[in-house]
Amino acid sequence: MSANIIDGKALAQNIYENLQAQIYAMKRAPRLDIVLMGNDDASEIYVRNKMKSAEKIGLKTVLHRLNKNDTEADLLALIDKLNVDSGVDGIIVQLPLPEQINTHNIINRISPQKDVDGFHPVNTGMLQNNEEPYFVAATPLGIMRLLQTVCTDLSGKNVVIIGASLIVGRPLATLLLNQECTVTITHIHTQNIKELTQKADIVVAACGVANMVKADWIKEGAVLIDVGINRCDGKICGDIDFAAVQNKAGAITPVPGGVGPMTVAMLLQNTIRAYMQQHG
Ligand code: NAD
Repeated sequence: MSANIIDGKALAQNIYENLQAQIYAMKRAPRLDIVLMGNDDASEIYVRNKMKSAEKIGLKTVLHRLNKNDTEADLLALIDKLNVDSGVDGIIVQLPLPEQINTHNIINRISPQKDVDGFHPVNTGMLQNNEEPYFVAATPLGIMRLLQTVCTDLSGKNVVIIGASLIVGRPLATLLLNQECTVTITHIHTQNIKELTQKADIVVAACGVANMVKADWIKEGAVLIDVGINRCDGKICGDIDFAAVQNKAGAITPVPGGVGPMTVAMLLQNTIRAYMQQHG
């Protein structure tokens, strides 16, 4: 039997239509300020995509560019300015930052009420305490929405996450734990990941290793979420070997067209939430 394809692109489109309707009803368009430091090629593409999607639904974006060699003090001064500007609803600083910058210092400086990436320790701490944070990080939030389309009740599910990053694996593990899942987080030093994934009801691959998860890594009917974005023979592919698992899995997100579109949609949803939380 062929796996159910979880269509992130279609779900994101649906969400955009709802967000657009919400924006039409507002006194002014919510505004997202994006800080881009340096000229990393991938970051340029990610920022362009976010701005394009935002503009399509009527959300305002402002891009602030800093040079690769600017100082941490320059970046902190810009954040301070945006934090107190009541016209700015959400702030994101595109990662990675140049090496002279301490990323934690930057994230910690963004007002938690404007931290639409959900990376500030106030937001991650609230999530950890199972309180409702101002914002949850966009990728894990998008994954939860995708899972809801195939699993109405997550309680008691055995989930294995491959990858323990601050932006994907860790917050996702907390979200799933808060939904009463039994969660195992694995990483580069975990022994025999395959033995763990073979028992999982849900496998989330977020490690950035092309096609790592094969058919013999999963149990029959498992739900697979592929977060990875890798280049394979000139194409984009995920961390799960889609062709190998598609007749064994119960459901799977494609790459591209799965988690990626939902990440952008959730960021824009967070920006609207920022506006509502600050201006009612
Ligand atoms: P990261 O480098 O910050 O973290 C990678 C994690 O995977 C680490 O915990 C590391 O220990 C683990 N890992 C690496 N190699 C491994 C291996 N061989 N076995 C087991 N674990 C291993 O990466 P990240 O920012 O979390 O991104 C992970 C992947 O997800 C990348 O491909 C990235 O492009 C993609 N990504 C996609 C989206 C999206 O919207 N689709 C969003 C964020 C990240």
